[in-house]
Amino acid sequence: MCARASSPHSHFRSIPLKLVMVLSFVVQALIMVGLVNYLSDSYGKIWIYGLGLMISIGFGLIMANWISRSYESVETALKESQEKYKVLFQILPIGVSITDKEARILERNAISESWLGTQDILEMECLQQREINPNVLRADGSPMPVAEYACVRALQRDHAVYDVETGIVCADGTLRWFSVSASPIPLEQYGVVIVHADISDRKFAEQAMRRSELKLQAFLDNAPTLIAIKDLEGKYLSVNQEFAYFMQVPEADILGKYDYDFFSAEAVKHIRRYELQAIFEGFAIDFEQSLHLPDGMRTFWVTQFPIMDNQDKPCAIASISIDITDRKYAELALKESEARFQKIATISPEAIYILIRNPDGNTFFEYASPASEELLGLSVEDLKRCPNLRHQIFHPNDLAGYEKVMGESLKTMQIFHHEWRIVTPQGQIKWIKSQAMPERRANGDVAWYGFAIDISDRKQSEIALAHVESDLKNANQELQRLVNLDGLTQIANRRCFDERILYEWQRLHREQQPLSLLMFDVDYFKRYNDHYGHQLGDECLLRIAQAVDQLVCRPADLVARYGGEEFIVILPNTNLEGAIAVAKNLHEAIADLQIPHQDSDVSDMVTISMGIASDIPNLERSPYVLINQVDQALYYAKQQGRNRSVIFTD
Ligand code: GH3
Ligand code: MG
Ligand code: MG
Repeated sequence: MCARASSPHSHFRSIPLKLVMVLSFVVQALIMVGLVNYLSDSYGKIWIYGLGLMISIGFGLIMANWISRSYESVETALKESQEKYKVLFQILPIGVSITDKEARILERNAISESWLGTQDILEMECLQQREINPNVLRADGSPMPVAEYACVRALQRDHAVYDVETGIVCADGTLRWFSVSASPIPLEQYGVVIVHADISDRKFAEQAMRRSELKLQAFLDNAPTLIAIKDLEGKYLSVNQEFAYFMQVPEADILGKYDYDFFSAEAVKHIRRYELQAIFEGFAIDFEQSLHLPDGMRTFWVTQFPIMDNQDKPCAIASISIDITDRKYAELALKESEARFQKIATISPEAIYILIRNPDGNTFFEYASPASEELLGLSVEDLKRCPNLRHQIFHPNDLAGYEKVMGESLKTMQIFHHEWRIVTPQGQIKWIKSQAMPERRANGDVAWYGFAIDISDRKQSEIALAHVESDLKNANQELQRLVNLDGLTQIANRRCFDERILYEWQRLHREQQPLSLLMFDVDYFKRYNDHYGHQLGDECLLRIAQAVDQLVCRPADLVARYGGEEFIVILPNTNLEGAIAVAKNLHEAIADLQIPHQDSDVSDMVTISMGIASDIPNLERSPYVLINQVDQALYYAKQQGRNRSVIFTD
């Protein structure tokens, strides 16, 4: 800590008072010595000495009293002044410190102490041990060397140093900015008085403004638009980087110049006209401007507006220009492309259209080529005017199908293909084929770009062809049926059996499933014919065939006329037991027919004899082996007396 000097006023009272007393005695002593030498009478000398002494003491006391009173009043005044000074010193809204000649702090007010703390920078100053204290900053934020401190400079040069902007990390750790002034004190024990005025608010405001200026500058420099500010005469005051880039002139070379330094007289006249209009009317003006720039002709969309001063009068004019050269080219290209499209669409025999479906589900034609008129029997204007036209002109039976395909296209955004009928306002039914590509627009609409053609002729041909095809198919089926059918009995014929047996033989070989055959023959049929006549013979065969055909009814089973009055039954996936059961049923079914046969040796009714054979097919053997076996079994059945079934055994 720096030692504080005692007050210089503490010696004031004693020293001069003693001095006056001594002087008074000396003067009186000299007067007395003079009087003694003049009188030279010893008695008289004693009286004189005594008297002189008395006078001297009295005079001295009077003088001392007078001087003492004078000093007291001076001292009182001084004390008052000192108190005022101390109060002022403490209440000043600035930090005040007083140092000695070595920059050591002698006194300081409360504000200085509260800002800078006890172990503060001023102590650092007074010790002067460091070159740089990181807690003390220059105005630019860099550390301030001790030699630049206001107090050090004031002490070194012995004159006042004012307003040194100093940043100090204060006792509470916050950075504050001060304007520091130091002024030498012309007294023996004193060095300088240092005044710290807090300028943090101003400094921070300045910094914030600077930052915001930098941001604005960064924005202006990075803006993809050309920004310029001119005075009212048209002189460039400020431009951004983009502006300088387009002009291919350094920014500094643009400032102070006018448009006529860069552009043609005609362009300048045009720009100036709008500038003046913006200045006089006081609001923004937009216009298009083409300019010859170093990289060629460019077109800009320019917005000019006046900048107002405090009195709300225009003081400058700002312009923001957007390069629309590419857009212009694109617009031109689009126009050309549209013109080409119009030409094609006008002569196209196909109806070209743009159908819009808005988010509410309503549809309308945004565009319809002239060919649409003939196709739909409506004028292009009517087509565009009528929303949801499908409800009015689509064939009622085809509306649902159209909606479904359209809904699918909407959902998947895939191309729409469809063929449907319309009924024109003139009552004509037409088949239409259309194909359209959907596209979703920014506003939520979906647009289908498509074409439509009249396919009525083709459709009619197709319908006619379909009829022919259908007839042909039916004829073929009938033919096929006839080819495989026995004309008399209306069951499968021998040809059909031959095909089927081969097919089942292979299938059941793959499945390794049994195949059984039943072969039966009407007993004494020759005699039947002879007795009842050939016609009744045919009838008898028909009834037997139908009865058997109805009984054998699994999908893969087949009853076929094998020849004459012989029949064969294919029973796939049926083993011997199953075949025996079926055979039994067949005998019963024939018996149930109750067809009289007077000439039969075995019964009064028509009977049959049957062979049964069963095997698991093997491709190494022919199915005819099994057919021979069943034929042989039938033979045995005849031999053994007829009206029975015999199972083939090896
Ligand atoms: P079996 O008991 O030994 O079978 O004696 P069957 O007389 O039935 O045998 P056979 O082979 O001698 O005679 C078969 C007869 O069946 C000969 C033929 O007149 C008759 N027949 C064959 N096909 C037909 C036909 O389509 N219609 C008629 N009505 N008779 C037929
Ligand atoms: Mg027979
Ligand atoms: Mg026979």
